[in-house]
Amino acid sequence: MTKRIALVAHDNMKPALLNWVSTHASQLREHEIFATGTTGKLIEKAINHHVHCFESGPLGGDQQIGAKICEGDIDLMLFFWDPLEAQPHDPDVKALLRLAAVWNIPVACNESTADYLISSPYFSGEYNIKQPDFAAYRARRVSTR
Ligand code: PGA
Repeated sequence: MTKRIALVAHDNMKPALLNWVSTHASQLREHEIFATGTTGKLIEKAINHHVHCFESGPLGGDQQIGAKICEGDIDLMLFFWDPLEAQPHDPDVKALLRLAAVWNIPVACNESTADYLISSPYFSGEYNIKQPDFAAYRARRVSTR
């Protein structure tokens, strides 16, 4: 089953993600890849496979991936964020991780978790993400005054 995979890495983490995607290139080529601009260009070259590139993360790319998640267009995400360096777009980073949690998307924030994900039978097989039920939230009463 073709998965729609989002890939993002902060600058200091790009070598780790590039190394990981190169190791798993043949498996990844069976899937549709989306990425923030700079990460995407590097990956496309590294694995010789088309990547849908959004804007660079700090210029809105994180939010574009967040929107895809909200629309149900992403099946899993590898987001190697940098735990040792402050990012100018920290609110966007937080927002992207938050939306992945809201929509119950599997997320790997480091190589070990990425290894677990890619070795899961769900990675290449069928997996139906359980849609959270937001009906009650959407229908909640809010005070208008
Ligand atoms: P980039 O963005 O791939 O354009 O470097 C990554 C990020 O979200 O910081």
